[in-house]
Formats: sequence, structure tokens, C-alpha cells
Amino acid sequence: MTFSVHGLAVARGIAIGRAVLVASSRVDVAHYFVEPSQVEGEIERVRQGRNAVVEELQRLQTDMPADAPHELTALLDVHLMLLQDEALTGGVKHWITERLYNAEWALTTQLEVIARQFDEMEDEYLRERKADLEQVVERILRHMKGVASPVAPPASSPRRKTQQDLLLDDTVDVPLVLVAHDLSPADMLQFKQSVFAGFVTDVGGKTSHTAIVARSMDIPAVVGARAASQLVRQDDWVIIDGDAGVVIVDPSPIILAEYGFRQRQVELERERLARLRHTPAITIDGHKIELLANIEQPGDAAAAVRAGAVGVGLFRSEFLFMGKSGNLPGEDEQYRAYCEAIDGMQGLPVTIRTIDVGADKPLDNKAHKDNYLNPALGLRAIRWSLADPAMFRTQLRAVLRAAAHGKVNLLFPMLAHTHEIQQTLAQVDLARAELDARGEPYGPVQLGAMIEVPAAALMVRTFLKYFDFLSIGTNDLIQYTLAIDRADEAVAHLYDPLHPAVLRLVGDVIAEGERQGKSVCVCGETAGDVTMTRLLLGLGLRSFSMHPAQILAIKQEVLRADTRKLAPWAQQVIGGEEPATLLAS
Ligand code: PEP
Ligand code: MG
Repeated sequence: MTFSVHGLAVARGIAIGRAVLVASSRVDVAHYFVEPSQVEGEIERVRQGRNAVVEELQRLQTDMPADAPHELTALLDVHLMLLQDEALTGGVKHWITERLYNAEWALTTQLEVIARQFDEMEDEYLRERKADLEQVVERILRHMKGVASPVAPPASSPRRKTQQDLLLDDTVDVPLVLVAHDLSPADMLQFKQSVFAGFVTDVGGKTSHTAIVARSMDIPAVVGARAASQLVRQDDWVIIDGDAGVVIVDPSPIILAEYGFRQRQVELERERLARLRHTPAITIDGHKIELLANIEQPGDAAAAVRAGAVGVGLFRSEFLFMGKSGNLPGEDEQYRAYCEAIDGMQGLPVTIRTIDVGADKPLDNKAHKDNYLNPALGLRAIRWSLADPAMFRTQLRAVLRAAAHGKVNLLFPMLAHTHEIQQTLAQVDLARAELDARGEPYGPVQLGAMIEVPAAALMVRTFLKYFDFLSIGTNDLIQYTLAIDRADEAVAHLYDPLHPAVLRLVGDVIAEGERQGKSVCVCGETAGDVTMTRLLLGLGLRSFSMHPAQILAIKQEVLRADTRKLAPWAQQVIGGEEPATLLAS
């Protein structure tokens, strides 16, 4: 029966496919398709992993002292029984043979199927066996890590399918959409390489970093869909409407046809916009607007160039540090990554932001679950860097060295105090001195500060004394001005880029930058939001940094804009009590 789940629209477009349910603790397995000729090999890998666990448990049983608690021996029996259960082995075979999933993916998929059955059991004892099953599967996965796959995961996803392509039968070639309770930004990075055509998560806000990465992947996504991962079953047909923030489960043929039509419209719109790629972004009254790209990984530079970006306005370098279980990348590794991004941009400037971890961007998944007191207000971004100067200078040296290879700007997140500015600049000087002492070459960099905290916006003049340029991080500026956790879907309705207080801060920073002849960019999500472009242009903004996928749509707005008309209107909007209504007019 068709039903829908509502959430927050975070990445545009329509995806239609079968649901793959993933539990966040188990997402660090690769997801890719194997060739039919590799099916036997994959089944064999699972068999070997399972046999190794059986042997391990049997050894434990044999070595068990005679006075061991009865519960322990009973538990081992249960685990052994689960391992032999046809529901697990037969199911895994099904996913590999019928769907051509790789072994790990098949195993975690079947785990979800059985776990759901356990959840529905009346008997509490049986319900609790779900945890045992999870442990057993995790043991198998650990063993399988030692048995390399004969198949390398493909580097890219299969092409986007339209409804015409879809067959309502069990062919392996149907698109898949991922449904999870929660995904960390690091999980999302994993999925960047994978096969999914869309995402749905139960939790998350519009500008949570999970949503940001989904947007950067340019595939439809809905977050904050509350109970979606409970309501959707493995393999259900699902439509993700990334524009409306709606997930339709088990759609009827009529609904499917309607969304198939809309999917084709989106494709046509993309093709139409693609023609603007080489058109300079100039307003009707002749203002040249800089459209830059936000990237998370060096490899994203290619998409930025393809979209016609004139540089990278925000390289979120923290993504180089994530998912490494706390083993931070060293100077050379970072240097290579920055050089890769610089090379990828083919001579265009790259603005590298120093590491911004903390809040909803933990270094690894474990930290995500830890009890922070108040992560968004805690040791994140520049505070984290200044608390560990050796780590900070390692990054600074890597960036300065990379600057010898191309035009690099260095950007610092979340500064609020003058003493933080001074300490940060002192660290840059020290990093240069360290490179001098080593005789290592390095290049010149422009230094910039992010305006993300109301305190920074209010003391913009001080910031401009110290820095060559500013970049307004509206995602955080909204969060901190309105006291709304950007990752919390419960308060997402109060997260308002058009709140007069936010607009006044943004407007004042742009105006002061203009007065002093220094560049001010907006690199938060509002820069890529077509409904905000006219207002930002009217406020005097001339530099926008966004996901590559948004650049052409924003360029279209720029080409239609006349700042002579927009400027007085923007002042009226910003001075009003209800900017949202004025904006609509
Ligand atoms: C912002 O806060 O607007 C920003 C661009 O930084 P991030 O989203 O990475 O916090
Ligand atoms: Mg920020």
C-alpha cells in the first residue's frame, strides 16, 4: 500500500528505486555490484568468513572452563545456531546471486531483513536475539576484511535511471536508494563512491553536514524523515522527491508514472542550464559576479571545473581527516591532497579552510556517539586547532607548501575573539618560519576569516584590519544567531535564513567589506539557494561559493538580475519585520 513520509528537502531532484536499509553502525562496508562471473567467489568469501567464526566460537566452547557461567555457554550456542541458520546463509546468497551485491553488502542487507523480523516478534527473549545476530554478522565482516575481494569497487555510480528505464521486475539493474536512521558526514563520504541514486535519513537538518555532502553528490535526498527507516522495508520501491522533501513508499503505477515524468523534466532543465556553462556571470547592469565551488575532497575539483566555477571558494579540509579512526593525515599526505585540488582546478584559485571538526562533523563515528556537553558551542573549528598548535601547524605548513603550486587562499573558521585572530596569525608566521628552517619552498597566500558567529559579524571592522578577505558562513551564522542547532530536525522550522537579525548581520558585513575594498564571499548554503540570489545581489554581494551542482542555476539568476533595482528593494527587505513576505512579493 502506498504511503508517504515527510522530511526536509535537502538535495534536489527525483530518485526512484528500491530501498536499501543501512544501519549507521555498519555502514563502513563497501557497496558495489559484482559481475555474474564473480558471484561464486563472493559467496565463497562469505562462507569462509562464516566458517572462520564458527571455528572461533567452537574453540571458545572447547576452552571454556568447567565452572563458566551457564549464560555464557548458552550464548555461544545461540551464536553458533544463528551462524548455521538458513535465513542468514540463504538470504545472503540471494542478494549476491539475484542482485549481484558484493559479499559485505549482501551480508548487511540480510542482517537488516532478519533484524526487522526479530523486531516484530512478540516474545521478548527472541526480540533480544537481534543483538546476537548483529554481533555474529560483525564477526563475519571482521573476518572477511582479511579475505580480499577479487573485485575492486567501481569508482563511480551507474548512470541515473529515468522512469522509462525502470522495470518492475527483479533485474539487477534497478536504481537503489539508501534509507538509514542517521549517517555521519564520514559515512556519506563512503557513499560518494557507491551506487545509490538517492538518500533518506530519519534525522538531520537542512544544513547538517550530512545534508551538505548529499547535496554535493547531486543526488536527491530527504533528511529529518523521522521514522522512515522503521516504515520502509528492505527492497520496497521508493520515490524520493528531493524538492518537496517527501518519500513515497510502494507507489502505485499512476504515481510512478507522474514522478517519472517529473524526473524527465528535471533532466531537461539540467540540460538547458548546461548551456550556460561558458557564459560569464554578469548582471544586466554589468556587475561581474564570482561563482565559486565548495568542495569536500580534491576529486570534487573536476565537477567544479565542469560546472564552470571560477575557483574553489571553500575546500572543507576536515573531510581529509574523517573516518581515519583518529589517525590524522600527516603534512605530506595533506600537501598531496591540496596539490591534487589545485591541479584539478587547472590554475583557478583554491580557498582552503583549515580543519573544522566538532559539532555534527566528528572525526569518526565513535566520537559522534560520545556525550558532548554542547558540541556546537564546544571545541570545534579554530578552537580545536588552537588547542592543538602542533596539529594546526602541520596543516598550515602543508597548505603553504601547496601554495607554491598555484593560487591558494587560506581561510579560518569560527573566529570570534581578537586574541584568537592574533594567535591564528602567529601560528601562520610560525609555520612559515618552520618551513624556512627546513629550507622547504612555499608560496604566498591571501588570509581570510569566516564570519560564522554573530560576534564576528558585529566586529567586522576588526576582522578587516587583520584579513585580506572574508567569507560568510551563513549555515553557522544562522545557527548561532538564532540559537538553532542546524542538525536538529525538531527545530528545523525555526532555522530561517530570512530572519531580520541574520539579514542585517550579513548585509552589514558585505557593506563594510565593500567600503574597505576587500572581498566578501558567502559560502554557506544560502549562496546556492536560488530564492536568495536576488536578495544577496541587492545587498551588494559579488562573490558566491556553493556546490558545483548549483552553480548554473545561480548563474541563471545572476544573468536576469539588475542590481540597480535590487539594491533599494534589498534595503527594504532587510529593514522589514517579515522579510519572507517581502521576498515573495
Ligand atoms: C557555514 O557555516 O556556512 C559554512 C560554510 O561552514 P560549514 O557548513 O562547513 O560549517
Ligand atoms: Mg561553518
